[in-house]
Amino acid sequence: MIKETEYYKDLVDRLEKTKDLSNEEFTELLFCDDKEAVEYLTERARAVREKIYGKEVYLRGLIEFTNYCKNNCKYCGIRCGNKNADRYRLSKDDILSCCDMGYELGFRTFVLQGGEDPYFNDDRMVEIVSDIRKAHPDCAITLSIGEREKESYQKLFDAGANRYLLRHETANKAHYEYLHPKEMSFDHRMQCLKDLKEIGYQVGCGMMIGSPGQKPEHFVEDLRFLQSFKPEMVGIGPFIPHHDTEFANCSAGTVDMTLRLLSVIRLLLPDVLLPATTALGTIDPIGREKGILAGANVVMPNLSPGNVREKYLLYDNKICTGDEAAECIRCMSARVSKVGYAVIISRGDHISYR
Ligand code: SAH
Repeated sequence: MIKETEYYKDLVDRLEKTKDLSNEEFTELLFCDDKEAVEYLTERARAVREKIYGKEVYLRGLIEFTNYCKNNCKYCGIRCGNKNADRYRLSKDDILSCCDMGYELGFRTFVLQGGEDPYFNDDRMVEIVSDIRKAHPDCAITLSIGEREKESYQKLFDAGANRYLLRHETANKAHYEYLHPKEMSFDHRMQCLKDLKEIGYQVGCGMMIGSPGQKPEHFVEDLRFLQSFKPEMVGIGPFIPHHDTEFANCSAGTVDMTLRLLSVIRLLLPDVLLPATTALGTIDPIGREKGILAGANVVMPNLSPGNVREKYLLYDNKICTGDEAAECIRCMSARVSKVGYAVIISRGDHISYR
């Protein structure tokens, strides 16, 4: 039976007030066809976001420093089995210059992301992190380099890393196993997230929306996981097929579902950091702006050198592969202002670009 708009609006109000709904209610809200109710969800998420963060949008400079990877995640364009990927890794000096340039442009957080590249063992990573820490003591250093052992996470933390992004991808074990080769373990990934938190990192987890095999009940499991894990950040973006993977012909996740989840997560964890991701900007030319209007409060412009950008191809048609860093930040800043918000450096002064 189709329910009244008021019924769904009540769910939104209750979610905002109690930070909880039943499993069935979460599914009803995520899948309802009621346009007015979905608008109301967006509105409330935006109100909560503005109460906490005002109109500010935080910038994180993304440095994609290696596309070598020892894993073979079935959805990912840089999986080791993709013989067509043109591999690269940045040197320590390249990485440091990206940070220097980013600093000049006003960034105060650097996110080092890469495939799981054995070349970047603990010694090399510790050296890179300590050098960035020395050069930029007032900046946050975020790592997103996959699964490692607790000891290794501890060394990187001691060297000066503050934050770590490791998406859980899906909170359902069977679904995780469907998306990954058998050598990869759901339990290990979850263990990594716990270890990171115990060490004292600010931790970001997150999932792909609309990945192959994802069922409505998996979203509920993701939300329950977020409730219990209480991450500092949640990175979500639509799954987008990559032509050199076995999921090449699968359909992409939708803008609508990604936005609904952003809003639901904003109401569930009011002060969480929520990026409007590149993947969302890839399936919709104004996807990131829509994300901000649905409750997101972080954007991550690319600081990687121009000549490697198109090689870090996790999925097809990824945006911003042609721009230089300065252009990326100008473009992002303009997009954010256009919807009435302003980019801010999180650990320092305000900057404005005209
Ligand atoms: N090796 C690191 C970084 C992975 S890339 C790690 O394991 O954490 C960052 C994120 O890109 C992944 O966590 C995944 O959620 C996302 N991603 C990979 N392939 C994708 C695809 N085809 N579509 C959308 N997102 C994808």
